[in-house]
Amino acid sequence: MKNCLVPGSTVMTPMICFYCGQDESKIGRGMLYHLFGIKHCDIHITNAIRDCKAYQHRENLLVMNRIKDPEILKFIDLLDGLPNGFSVERSNGEIQTGWKINKGYFYEPAFITKINGHWTIPCTNDKTYKNIKLIDFICFVPIENISKIVEDIIDILNEGIYKKDQEEYEKVLNKDTSVHYEDGEIIKYVLYEGQICRAILPK
Ligand SMILES: [Zn+2]
Repeated sequence: MKNCLVPGSTVMTPMICFYCGQDESKIGRGMLYHLFGIKHCDIHITNAIRDCKAYQHRENLLVMNRIKDPEILKFIDLLDGLPNGFSVERSNGEIQTGWKINKGYFYEPAFITKINGHWTIPCTNDKTYKNIKLIDFICFVPIENISKIVEDIIDILNEGIYKKDQEEYEKVLNKDTSVHYEDGEIIKYVLYEGQICRAILPK
């Protein structure tokens, strides 16, 4: 029995709740993307959602199509609404036009992520995919107040939209790992009638 978990590959994993082992597991909101996440039962859906968010916080990544933060969504919509896309400087120095934001989807996820200390956003041009530094948008994106918008988004990302979920995860993790022995008895956490209980076993 676990109260918190780290999402991972679900390839070849059994159809059970990864928290309690119940064999009525769901593949839904606990999946960050196709074949990656945490399978859960109806009781542990909230654990799975929290643990997926905490994982994104720790890994400095955000799965694009799961973002609900209004400011980040506004920024994505702004870029998405540019009729001719935006320009990007390629590694050879060439300025290339017609780039769009890559919003990703369940089967082909895209991530806002930190690369070499810089927050980047996934972009695409025809069949080319590239994560572009947010700070570079200031030079190449024809939107009024773009510097202020970009700086605000970087602040939000640095603060972490899932920071609270990570704090909650840490609290629960500490409880999960603090099962201790007392003189003459062994205390274990067990699932009893759907509730997590402390069971005292004779030594
Ligand atoms: Zn469960």
